[in-house]
Amino acid sequence: MRLGIISALAEEQQGLLEAMESPYKLIHGKREYTAGKLWKIDSVAVLSRIGKVAAAVTAATLVEKFNVTHIIFTGVAGSADLGVRVGDVVVADSLAQHDFDASPLFPRFEIPLTGLSRMPTDREMSLKLSLATREFLENELNNPQIHRGLIGSGDQFIKDRQHLGKLKDALPDLLAVEMEGAAVAQVCHELGIPFAIMRTISDNANEDAATDFMEFVQTVASRYAYGVIENFCKGLTPT
Ligand code: SAH
Repeated sequence: MRLGIISALAEEQQGLLEAMESPYKLIHGKREYTAGKLWKIDSVAVLSRIGKVAAAVTAATLVEKFNVTHIIFTGVAGSADLGVRVGDVVVADSLAQHDFDASPLFPRFEIPLTGLSRMPTDREMSLKLSLATREFLENELNNPQIHRGLIGSGDQFIKDRQHLGKLKDALPDLLAVEMEGAAVAQVCHELGIPFAIMRTISDNANEDAATDFMEFVQTVASRYAYGVIENFCKGLTPT
């Protein structure tokens, strides 16, 4: 196994880079890829930058150039459900591109030629990632919860209740919104790479989103990503 770890923001990956054994850095396509061992697991960590195209090219490069066999995305997201609170974690069962609409040629949200409007994540990896998250959250204050379900991605920072409300009308089971996951999902689906996605909720995708988001990323998100990946890697048998 060679694990690709993608995050959108530097704060989310700093700790992991410091924990990497025998790190080896390579710059390619304006991104810095760091290969090495994380808790005995052969890994490559990289920042995707923000948005679906950025995430797609990063995921494809991890597979084609760095030969990763599995991908995990760790990041933050806005809540899209009243039951999902800031500090909670969502592990995706499936992802949709909430801004994709080729209707009437294809149903809204369907990605042409795939027949899918939601890309499922790898079951076994998502289960392991959920267990790793649960173990990490047990030691956190304020009793954060873990949720499993649909995450929506689009090239939009959602910061307005009405916008979120419209998305929720179209995708009632939507739990969180972010800007990269569904792109990684499509690349992994098309290249046959098992993947899992976890998002810590940083904001409520409303008018306060930008301030909440900035504060959260700096104080909490980095710890979460580190703690969850540590548990995940320790739970795997290195090959
Ligand atoms: N101001 C930031 C921009 C971050 S964009 C900067 O200077 O770098 C927000 C990032 O967090 C994206 O990578 C996205 O995946 C996630 N995210 C968090 N809250 C979000 C929301 N409400 N809507 C969309 N994406 C959100």
